[in-house]
Amino acid sequence: MPVQTPKEPLVSQDTMWAIEKSAAAPGLSRITAPIPKAGPKDVRIRVTAFAICGTDLHIVEWDDWAASRIKPPLIPGHEFTGIVESVGSEVTLVKPGDRVTAETHIYCGLCYACRRGLPHLCQNVLILGVDRQGAFADYVVIPEQNVWKLHPDIPEEIAAIHDPLGNAVHTALAGPVAGLRFAVFGCGPIGCFAIGVLKASGAALVAAIDKNPMRLSLAEAMGADLMLHVERDAVVPAVLAATEGRGVDGMLEMSGSPGAFRDGFEILANGGRVSLLGIPSKPLEIDVAREIIFRGATVQGINGRWIYDTWYRMEALLLSGKLNIKPVITHVLGWSEFDRAVELQRSGKAGKIVLRRDHP
Ligand SMILES: [Zn+2]
Ligand SMILES: [Zn+2]
Repeated sequence: MPVQTPKEPLVSQDTMWAIEKSAAAPGLSRITAPIPKAGPKDVRIRVTAFAICGTDLHIVEWDDWAASRIKPPLIPGHEFTGIVESVGSEVTLVKPGDRVTAETHIYCGLCYACRRGLPHLCQNVLILGVDRQGAFADYVVIPEQNVWKLHPDIPEEIAAIHDPLGNAVHTALAGPVAGLRFAVFGCGPIGCFAIGVLKASGAALVAAIDKNPMRLSLAEAMGADLMLHVERDAVVPAVLAATEGRGVDGMLEMSGSPGAFRDGFEILANGGRVSLLGIPSKPLEIDVAREIIFRGATVQGINGRWIYDTWYRMEALLLSGKLNIKPVITHVLGWSEFDRAVELQRSGKAGKIVLRRDHP
């Protein structure tokens, strides 16, 4: 791979620093790319910080998913924040100098789903850094409809991770929460964020389940009441014991692991909800009669963030002071440490890693 970052990333008037998937093979390269052009309805943003997502690791490693979806050359990166550098002639939402981040599912606004008020399920969605040029660069161009103007009290490292935090807000708040008990399977950054959202929203109990002790300690820092290691603890009896044998009212699945589906239904109270965000790598078998029909379970797939309902709730939760996601940000690095960030993330020894342009 090695990706080197020059001290002053902007290379010339028309070119910029970027990280690119240049060929259909593992790795990424550092390139000098043309600064992207913005149309009349677009906003050009000078990126100031970004984060590396699990999706980006798939792109780095060039696994089956990446090979089937990504068309090199591509600048990856969808978790970012920056400052508006210029706006198209028709843009009214933001002006140069505004601090922004973006809803990274670029929706068409015209398809059946979009016109029914479900733009997060747009049939023509283009994902930033997956289907179009992303944010691991000096500049990124986003349609005005996808720009989110930041409240001045939102710090840069949190602004950079609104995309995954929004996934967590969407999943956690996809049903009633106050006074109810939950289990969260998978305590990566999104699972940990979801624990914080549940607790801030009045959940009576949150059990956190993972196989990585470091992640379980982050879950605890986010307010989980019960931390269970899938291999060392008997998950099902422990959750039943903590809920007088009733089970949990809600199960948030953030791991994609078949074991989580098995245990998750086992500990679900009758009438409970199952909110699925983690993506299983292959089809799963489930006893529909026993686990869903007779249990009266509500099973929901969660995709992206509800545009823009999730965003307003996320901002309100952050500003309320009730949701503090800082414990999950285990590392803040500079752009020159991109390789290290990828390695740290791969190793499972980090929560969320934010890379800042001006980091010392
Ligand atoms: Zn992401
Ligand atoms: Zn659409």
